[in-house]
Amino acid sequence: MAAPIQRTVRILFRLSSSTLQPLRQYPSILQRLPVRTCPGLPLLVPPSHFYCKAASLHEDAVQAAEALSRYKDRPWDYLESEEYIERYGTSPVWEGYRRNHKGGIPPQKTRKTCIRGDKICGNPCPICRDPNIIIHHQNVKLLQQFISPHTGMVYDSTQTGVCMKQQKKLNEAITTAQDHGLLPFQIPFVEYSGEDYSNSHDAVGTTPSPPSLTIGDTWYKWYSEMTPDENQVAKVKKTYKAYLK
Ligand SMILES: [Zn+2]
Repeated sequence: MAAPIQRTVRILFRLSSSTLQPLRQYPSILQRLPVRTCPGLPLLVPPSHFYCKAASLHEDAVQAAEALSRYKDRPWDYLESEEYIERYGTSPVWEGYRRNHKGGIPPQKTRKTCIRGDKICGNPCPICRDPNIIIHHQNVKLLQQFISPHTGMVYDSTQTGVCMKQQKKLNEAITTAQDHGLLPFQIPFVEYSGEDYSNSHDAVGTTPSPPSLTIGDTWYKWYSEMTPDENQVAKVKKTYKAYLK
C-alpha cells in the first residue's frame, strides 16, 4: 500500500507545482498589463470624474509626451498644422474660454497655475489645456494673439483667462521677441507742444562775457533771487487753498 500512496503523492505534487507556477507569475503579468482598461464605462463621462482617473491621467501624460516630442523643437509648426486649424480655426486660442469663479464678479487675478505636479485642474487655461501650445519667443503667431492690434498692449490675463504662471512666461517671451526684432514696439505718439527747443535761449546759447564784478550781480540774471508775479501767486494759492497750511 505504501508504494501507490507515494506515487499518488508524487503525482499530486507535480500537478500542484505545475498549476501553482502560473499563479505565482500572475501578479507580475497583471503589472505588465496596460493601465488603460476601464471596461463598462460610457465614453461621455469626463475624465476628471472617472474612477480610474489614474488611467486617464496616464493617457494624458502619454499624449502630452508625444506632443512634446513632436512640437518641442519647433513649437511654431503647430500653429500651421491641420489639427490646430481644426481646433481653433482663425480665432485666437483664448477665444471662447470661460473662467470658473465664485459669484458674479470675477477675481482681479486669474489662478496661480493650472498644473501642480501631475494634477491638472478642472478648467485649465487656454495655454495649459493644449500641450501643443508652447510659449517661445520665436512662436510669433501665438504671441501676436495676446497683443492688441490697435494699442500694441499685451492683453490682461483676466481678458484671456491665462493663468499667472503662463502669463509671466508670455510677457517674458514677448519682451524677448521684441528684443530680437520679431515683434514691433509700440511707441506712444507724443504731440508737439510748440515749445522752443532751439538754442536761442540764453541758458543754452553762447556764454556771455562776464559781467562787471559788482557785489550782488550774478553771471546770469536767473541766478539771482526772482520775485514772482503777485497775481500768479494769488492764483496758485487759491487753487491749492485746501492743501496749504
Ligand atoms: Zn494655466
